[in-house]
Amino acid sequence: LYVDHPLSVGQSIPLEREQAHYLFGVMRLAEGAFVALFNSRDGEFVAEVTEAGKRGGVLTCVEKTRELQMPPDLWLLFAPIKKARTDFIVEKAAEMGAKRICPVQTEFTNSERIRQDRLQAHAVEAAEQCGGTYVPEVADLQKLDRLLADWDPERQIMFCDETLVGAAEALGAKEGDAKGGKWAILIGPEGGFSETERKRLHALPCAHAVSLGPRILRADTAAVAALTVWQQKLGD
Ligand code: SAM
Repeated sequence: LYVDHPLSVGQSIPLEREQAHYLFGVMRLAEGAFVALFNSRDGEFVAEVTEAGKRGGVLTCVEKTRELQMPPDLWLLFAPIKKARTDFIVEKAAEMGAKRICPVQTEFTNSERIRQDRLQAHAVEAAEQCGGTYVPEVADLQKLDRLLADWDPERQIMFCDETLVGAAEALGAKEGDAKGGKWAILIGPEGGFSETERKRLHALPCAHAVSLGPRILRADTAAVAALTVWQQKLGD
C-alpha cells in the first residue's frame, strides 16, 4: 500500500477514509493483520493494523523489509489521447519504471486539460500491484514548446518520430555503452508531430530521433514499445 507519510520502525500511520475502506471493507483485514507499505522515499515496511474503523484507522510500522528501489532517471513525455488510452499509458509507464510522467500538449493534441489526480492515482495503483517501492510523479499538462524552452540539455530525448518509418534508429547506445544518465522518451499524439515541432526536435543536440519500426503504431502502443526499447538499451 502506498502512503504519503514518513516510514520508520515504530511509526504510526493514520489512514485516509479510502485506504480504510480498501483495507477493512474490501480486503477484510482486522486489527492485528499485517500490510506492506511504501512511500517512494523510505523503502518498504511491514506494518500492523493497530486500529481499524469504517472511516479511518492506524497502521504501525514493525519492520523494514526492502530498501527503496529508485527507477532509472527516465521521464515519459506523451501527448494525452482518449481517456482510457491515456490511463493505459500512465499505468504501463509506472509498471515499466518511468521516474516521471509528463503529459504534453503538442500542436495536434486534442486535450486541453487532464485529470492529473486521476492519472496520479493510476500510477499509485500500478506501482502497488507490481510490488514497487516508488511511484512516478505525474505532472500536470504542459505545452511541449514551453517545456523544450527550459529543457536541461543534459537530459537526452528519445524522440519517437513516426516519419522515420523504415529508417535505421539512432538511439546511440551500443552493447557495452554506459547505462543510466538523464533521459526522456517523447511520444506524439494521434495526429503525430507538426513539421515545426519535428524541425525543432531534430535541431536539438540532446534529441535523438528514433523509429519504432516500419509500422505506424497507436500512441499507447508506441509508449510501451519505446519504454521497452529504452529499458533494453539503456535501462539498468
Ligand atoms: N493515428 C494513430 C493513433 O490513433 O494513435 C497513430 C498515432 S502515432 C502518429 C503517435 C505517436 O506514436 C507518434 O507521434 C510517435 O511519437 C509514435 N510512433 C508511432 N509509430 C511510430 C514509429 N513507427 N516510429 C516512431 N514513433 C512512432
